[in-house]
Amino acid sequence: MKLLDGRILRDKILDEIRSEVAHLSVIPKLVVVQVGDDPASDVYIRNKFRACKKTGIESEHIHLPAGVDQATLNARMTALSEDESVHGVLLQLPLPDHLDDAEAMNLLSPDKDVDGFHPANLGRLLAGQPGPVPCTPAGLRALLEEGGIETRGKELVVLGRSLIVGKPAALLFLEKSAFGDATVTICHSRSKNLETICKRADILVAAIGRAHFVTADMVKDGAVIVDVGINRIDDPSSPKGSRIVGDCDFEGLSSKVSAMTPVPGGVGVMTVAMLMKNTLDACKRQVAMKAGS
Ligand code: NAP
Repeated sequence: MKLLDGRILRDKILDEIRSEVAHLSVIPKLVVVQVGDDPASDVYIRNKFRACKKTGIESEHIHLPAGVDQATLNARMTALSEDESVHGVLLQLPLPDHLDDAEAMNLLSPDKDVDGFHPANLGRLLAGQPGPVPCTPAGLRALLEEGGIETRGKELVVLGRSLIVGKPAALLFLEKSAFGDATVTICHSRSKNLETICKRADILVAAIGRAHFVTADMVKDGAVIVDVGINRIDDPSSPKGSRIVGDCDFEGLSSKVSAMTPVPGGVGVMTVAMLMKNTLDACKRQVAMKAGS
């Protein structure tokens, strides 16, 4: 079984970005807007800023209190859209329940949407036009590409239909391109005959958030498994009493499949690398637009 290791590719991408940033006249700047104190968000944001430091991308953390109102959040997003010193803005999700993330996101200039979640950018993805691609789907496709996994003509099943992973991943693999051209099926919690559908897959992308959901009896021999899931499970043998696992039963699948991404160290680490790439690209686009205006 071939291990599709995200750490090696992440380091390569971050090195390339650092070399490019070092030669730019304008240093890209990423702003992360956080509301409240979700512990998982704290970890994700730390990782993003670590990657900024490695690449030379400037970063700023705007940390708003959990009780902030929608109007204040909206005003911050509008101000960041207008601030020419800022090239990328990321609204860290989830927001507290009283806030509407779509309302705040829609106020952000699509040019600065480095997550690729703005409806205008999702529309570009659907239309096959250039623009920022959501980081996790972009990262997992890059991992398959690096691993020499062909998608053209393959049966590719995506488990999960979220806007941040499942749907954009399906669109990417559907694209008429060398690393698209797959026959794509999307499944969700209401899908029937899930096992039969999964067994058809040459490539299975699992993004549902259920620990060890995909087991050996659900996949065909030689399939390629991309595990997007990040799930914390109890583990008394670990010093923390818990550990992170994916949506797939890694041990059970390893003797049956031809290639698989590990968790951790697979898709998750690629997501941050793609965020840095989207920030660099956003900066270059904005500098070029300003020069042309
Ligand atoms: P989400 O928004 O909760 O969506 C989960 C999707 O899975 C939904 O479409 C849901 O169906 C479907 N689903 C849930 N249970 C199912 C079942 N038993 N059978 C079939 N489909 C089922 O989750 P998400 O944000 O996409 O994240 C999914 C997983 O990826 C999580 O573990 C998350 O932590 C991880 N993640 C990882 C990264 C990374 O960088 N590696 C990034 C983002 C997310 P319905 O639509 O019908 O509810």
